[in-house]
Amino acid sequence: MPRDGRQRRPGGDKRNVSTQYKARVLITGAGGFIGHHLTDYLKQKGYWVRGADIKEPEFSATHADDFQVLDLRDWKQCVRATEGVDHVYALAADMGGMGFISNHHAQILYNNSVINLHTIEAARQNGVKKYLYTSSACVYPEFKQTDTMVTPLKEDDAYPAQPQDAYGWEKLITERLCDHYREDYGLQTRIVRFHNIFGPKGTWEGGREKAPAAMCRKVAYAKLTGNPVIEVWGDGEQTRSFCYIDDCVEGIYRLMNSGYHAPLNLGQDRLISINELAHLVASIAGIQVQLKHIDGPMGVRGRNSDNDRLRLVLGWEPGISLEEGLRKTYFWIEEQVRQKLVLPASD
Ligand code: NAD
Repeated sequence: MPRDGRQRRPGGDKRNVSTQYKARVLITGAGGFIGHHLTDYLKQKGYWVRGADIKEPEFSATHADDFQVLDLRDWKQCVRATEGVDHVYALAADMGGMGFISNHHAQILYNNSVINLHTIEAARQNGVKKYLYTSSACVYPEFKQTDTMVTPLKEDDAYPAQPQDAYGWEKLITERLCDHYREDYGLQTRIVRFHNIFGPKGTWEGGREKAPAAMCRKVAYAKLTGNPVIEVWGDGEQTRSFCYIDDCVEGIYRLMNSGYHAPLNLGQDRLISINELAHLVASIAGIQVQLKHIDGPMGVRGRNSDNDRLRLVLGWEPGISLEEGLRKTYFWIEEQVRQKLVLPASD
């Protein structure tokens, strides 16, 4: 596969493709979890898609019409990525789960600030019409998330601001950047705040994985090795809500095509503790596990999405159950673990 910014497939002449496709879109971070799924979703919807990422997708080939390996911290590479497209879905970020986010503040703040400053300015200079920025529930203030039975977070709760990590501060400032580009330059911006998106083909090992993938991996190892002990960071009573990837890409698409420019939550509003999540995954795997609580970053004590505005704005909300999403995710990860352990494939 070509590397270093060369096009995988030529983008072609815009005049030729504009009649054939709904619009030309750029997805930054298309080599990552959500970007890869979004590429497939937008291809099915009839868009011409360019993907840009510092790496190609890890688990299956991209279906993008044009995939460019680019470092979007670099201004010139952002200009190249945003050339000739109508819409940008800005997903590229240096990110990971709690273990990564709570230990790489300077790196995250620097890399993501530069990526986002350059991408939106390059989009503006290249005449992009619509720009969707992927923010996070990590923008919400720590003082509103001190209880496991947390009150679901409404969009307006983000202020007064006190995100827990540099990751959340950067997301919040880029939300403001989008607002100012809309007000000052007329760029149609959209801002989505994800709440723990999970599914197959996401990072599941190596330190950047998030809780659902990590739990599926631990349970799969327990099942395949016969050792039922699962390590859980902290007391495991911390709570979250989790949203399956298919709902996520549909929500992103609906938001991009709405006229709504203020930040919008995108997540499920079913609260579950990490201990409960471990047992749920184990039941899907068909085993029983013993939880061993160890020191580790836990993040905020509780976090849930208030979906009132989501329902109002999009007339829709995520509907795929946690059980259904986890089943698909777990068996995909079990297969990855099986290959690692060099075990025969399951039936
Ligand atoms: P991901 O890590 O799988 O994807 C991000 C992609 O950005 C990666 O493929 C990475 O290589 C790419 N990237 C990093 N630095 C880059 C650079 N300098 N140039 C080009 N590409 C670069 O993460 P994801 O889960 O797919 O998240 C997508 C977006 O959604 C991110 O902005 C993330 O912060 C946000 N988000 C995700 C979640 C979640 O639960 N997954 C929650 C909140 C917010």
